[in-house]
Amino acid sequence: MPKRDYYEVLGVGRDAAPDALKKAYRKLAMKFHPDQNPDDVSAAEKFKELTEAFQVLSDPDKRMRYDRFGHDAPGIHGGPGAVDIGSMADFFDSIFGSVFGGAPRARRRGGHPGRDLQYDLTITLEQAVSGTDVRVTIPRPVRCDTCQGSGTAPGTAPDKCGRCSGTGTVRLESGIFAMSATCPSCGGAGEVVRNRCPGCDGRGLSVKDQQFEVGIPAGADDGAVKIIPGAGEQGRGGAPDGDLHIVIHVQDHPIFMRRGMNLLCAIKVGFPQAVLGAEVDVPTVDGPVKMRIKPGTESGQTYRLKGKGVPMLRGSGRGDELVRVEVDIPRKLTARQKELVAELGKELGTEIETRPRTFIEKLKDLLE
Ligand SMILES: [Zn+2]
Ligand SMILES: [Zn+2]
Repeated sequence: MPKRDYYEVLGVGRDAAPDALKKAYRKLAMKFHPDQNPDDVSAAEKFKELTEAFQVLSDPDKRMRYDRFGHDAPGIHGGPGAVDIGSMADFFDSIFGSVFGGAPRARRRGGHPGRDLQYDLTITLEQAVSGTDVRVTIPRPVRCDTCQGSGTAPGTAPDKCGRCSGTGTVRLESGIFAMSATCPSCGGAGEVVRNRCPGCDGRGLSVKDQQFEVGIPAGADDGAVKIIPGAGEQGRGGAPDGDLHIVIHVQDHPIFMRRGMNLLCAIKVGFPQAVLGAEVDVPTVDGPVKMRIKPGTESGQTYRLKGKGVPMLRGSGRGDELVRVEVDIPRKLTARQKELVAELGKELGTEIETRPRTFIEKLKDLLE
């Protein structure tokens, strides 16, 4: 079978940046890793193809050679012997580091390590800015009380798995690749249960609601992940517990919009205030403050309230609040008001000023 183009295999363009390559590879590798597809040989083939493509394209030197000479490029399939891909978790840790930057995962040694759990937590912008403690209730798979997680009925013992001879892993070898994948028969435990525990139907786990206190640091951004080590699914057979990943979502705010460490908002002031200057109340996440509007303020002019933005996550200091002032042009006027405005108009004159080009450029900048 002719080899497919590596870029095509990963579904990226020839100019893909290293990050884009990694992302594409990771997404596909998750899908086709043998752990996810224990009985699908074509998935293993696909995974091998992906991994080979990634190994070449992620190495700048090999990629350059591949770009020039294609699959026949010398030295792109480097390294003697087999590449051991390991189990899915080990594999991703080795290539990408721990996904969320947590502590290195304990190596799998028999048993069933608990999976990581994900929980989506929505907080308000005020909570994100000031930091807060939130109590969350998580449906958490914990070891079954009846069988202590073994999955076997009390008084019985599991049998050694025949497929992997009790090791928990099977090896798939082909070409330069040797992959050790989790044994599909026993799920990595090395044992199979004949007499299933009635309490959990042999799963070894039952789901219980558990509460955890989540400390949200001041300055947390939308999409941030807070990890509570060991609060995920419980491990069985001496294997470690998974972690709990709290994904933080920050609600849209009716007044403020966040841009990095700054908060943006808009206020309306009356025409006389804009012309003569005024002191106005401006909302901030710490409550309203007084702000001075300079005489002659134009619509769209922005004022900066220092230190009223979002705190830096690490270190000290805060961003600013940017207040855009819009001048309210009154539409419904009484006869008397019209008279006054007309008089003012006469006094000011009606000469039309042509704006220099630089002003238009500035406007464009603001709009972008
Ligand atoms: Zn049980
Ligand atoms: Zn097995």
